[in-house]
Amino acid sequence: MAKQDYYATLGVAREASGDDLKKAYRKLAMQYHPDRNPGDKQAEAKFKEINEAYDVLKDEQKRAAYDRYGHAAFENGGAGAGGGRFGGGGGVRAIFEQMFGDFMGNGRRGGNGRGPRAGNDIRTALEISLTDAFAGIKATLRVPTRVACEACSGSGSEKGQGGSETCASCQGAGKVRAQQGFFIIERTCPTCNGQGRTIRNPCRICHGAGTVQRERSLQVSVPAGVEDGTRIRVAGEGEAGGPGAPAGDLYVHVAIKPHPIFQRDAATVFCRVPLRFTQAALGDDVEVPTIDGSMTRVKIPAGTQTGDQFRLRGKGFSVLRSAQRGDMLIQVQVETPQNLTRKQRELLEEFEAESKGKGSPEHEGFFAKAKEFFQGRG
Ligand SMILES: [Zn+2]
Ligand SMILES: [Zn+2]
Repeated sequence: MAKQDYYATLGVAREASGDDLKKAYRKLAMQYHPDRNPGDKQAEAKFKEINEAYDVLKDEQKRAAYDRYGHAAFENGGAGAGGGRFGGGGGVRAIFEQMFGDFMGNGRRGGNGRGPRAGNDIRTALEISLTDAFAGIKATLRVPTRVACEACSGSGSEKGQGGSETCASCQGAGKVRAQQGFFIIERTCPTCNGQGRTIRNPCRICHGAGTVQRERSLQVSVPAGVEDGTRIRVAGEGEAGGPGAPAGDLYVHVAIKPHPIFQRDAATVFCRVPLRFTQAALGDDVEVPTIDGSMTRVKIPAGTQTGDQFRLRGKGFSVLRSAQRGDMLIQVQVETPQNLTRKQRELLEEFEAESKGKGSPEHEGFFAKAKEFFQGRG
């Protein structure tokens, strides 16, 4: 069946202005609109023809292509092809290249977004405690994401009336060109969002997108020994793709909260332990907490000073992908007592009376040197 000339379809002259086209289109569209002609197949066909004709002629560039090449401009995935080969090449796009290529340079380079689009990746942050980083954790994340629409099983089409067709606005190119002054600019086709295809009978729930926005609950395994700033990739758990396209990935950025008593450097755990000065002087066995949640006994020898370190082998952080553990380093801080009771004070005064010249070699040495210094000068 030969196609009617677009100008004839709209009943306008070939030199009709944009306004004339619009007026003619409106009048005919009102007349043949399916709502006004329920069940009338002829009116429906006519209505489609009118729309197809107007869709081409209202667009300056499509109209120019049509004037030059006739219906051939839109064959092979053109406006009237309705369900032509998926992503049909050639047609008006090729003609656009030919006509405007010189202005555009290499406008088509790079993905032009046609065809079903893979889902976007999702990035999300997860803050965990240092003890969870030590032991590893299965964290539950709530991720806002696009998932396949249940109503249409992700097809984007209303049930039973499936199928997509080449986008009539861009002829499947995914991009449209518009004249701005002397320049022709190219932008993503707003009708099909660059897909090159439009859904013939869009799903009422997702409006043809095939995906809907949801908050999803996801379990992510964070391995023991994870470092602050680690990025965990969970393949296929990103946003759902377009119909038939793969989902994106989920990237979880792990941040580790500072711990009140432990610091970590790779597999080593540091802990500063304050001791009573008597414990440091007399020696003691002290129980210190470890990162695994247990307590461990540390022998503090008599005469321990502030800053002295003790290494506890195998009591440090878990090593990623291994059963090994690093070491724990404890650093002692000797605390001078404050707010003494009367009894403590008496005992310390007695202790002090006994201490002149005994038991504090650094102290003695310092003041001996100071004395020499002054006497030497005097
Ligand atoms: Zn849907
Ligand atoms: Zn389009």
